[in-house]
Amino acid sequence: MSLYLVSTPIGNLEDITLRALRVLKEVDLIACEDTRHTRKLLDHFGIRKPVISYHEHNEQARAAELAGRLAQGESIAIVTDAGTPGISDPAYRIVRAAIEHGVEVVPIPGPAALIAGLVASGLPTDSFYFGGFLPPRKGARRTRLDELRSERSTLVFYESPHRIREALSDAEEVLGDREASLARELTKLHEQFLRGCLSEIRARLDVQSPRGEMTLVIAGCGDDNLYATEQISLTAQVDKLMDDEGLTRSDALKAVARSRGLSKREAYQKLLEEKADENIDEKKTD
Ligand code: SAM
Repeated sequence: MSLYLVSTPIGNLEDITLRALRVLKEVDLIACEDTRHTRKLLDHFGIRKPVISYHEHNEQARAAELAGRLAQGESIAIVTDAGTPGISDPAYRIVRAAIEHGVEVVPIPGPAALIAGLVASGLPTDSFYFGGFLPPRKGARRTRLDELRSERSTLVFYESPHRIREALSDAEEVLGDREASLARELTKLHEQFLRGCLSEIRARLDVQSPRGEMTLVIAGCGDDNLYATEQISLTAQVDKLMDDEGLTRSDALKAVARSRGLSKREAYQKLLEEKADENIDEKKTD
C-alpha cells in the first residue's frame, strides 16, 4: 500500500516520465482533479485504470475515504490536471491523511511550471520564494506584495491571463520597477518568455493581449531595492557600502547616486541636507 504523487505534463506530453507511466499502470486506483481530463492523458498512453475525482471541494471527505482504502492495502496514485500534485493543486490533505494512517507516500517527480519558469527566467535561482497565486482582490494582493518587499529571494507566482496586467502594475508600485520574466505556455507550441522590467512587460501586454497559462518571476530585493524600500538614509547607505565593500567615500557616493537615479552632485547635496537635519536634531535634544 502506497500513495504515489505522480507529476504529469504541463503541456507537452513527452514530459511524462517512464516511472510515472509505470506507476499509473500498476496502481489500483487513480485519484484525479478532473476525470475527463485525466482519462484523455491515460488514453493517450494506453492506460486503463479506475479513476475517482478528488478536488478542492470534496478534498476533506475524499482524503478520509482514500486513506481508508490505502490502509486496507490498495495503492493509489494522485494526479492533477497538470504538473506536480500539491503545488497550487490539491493533494496536501490526502498526504496528511495517508501519513496519519501509516501509509508510505512516494513522490514521482516531474514537471512543475514554477521550476520551468524560474530556471529560464535569467534571474537568480539559488534561492527562491514561491507564492502560488496572488490574491485576486487588489487590496489583498498589494498587502501580500508589501509583505514580500524586502524578500531577497527571487519571487515566483502563478497568475491568470485576465489578472496579469493588474498584478504587474501592483507589483511595480509596491516592489519598484524590478527585473522580471513572464513565462507563457511553458512546454507548449507557443511557449514565450517576456523578460525585462515589470513596466516593460506590462507595456508589451498592452500591445499583445495576454493569453494562456502564465508564471511570473520577479527579482528579489537587491541592495538597491532594499535601500529604496526600507528608506534608509543616503548617509547610512554610503557608510554601508564603504564598510561592506571597502569603497572610498567618493565611489560609494557615486554608486548610491546611481542606485537612486540621482546625479553625483544631487546625491552630495542630499547628503549635506541629511547632515544639516541631523545637526538640528542633535541641537534639539541638547
Ligand atoms: N500543479 C501545477 C504545477 O506543478 O505547476 C500548477 C497548477 S496551478 C492550478 C495552474 C497554474 O500554473 C496556471 O494558472 C499557471 O499560472 C501555472 N502554469 C501551469 N502550466 C503552465 C504552463 N504551461 N506555462 C506557464 N504557467 C503554467
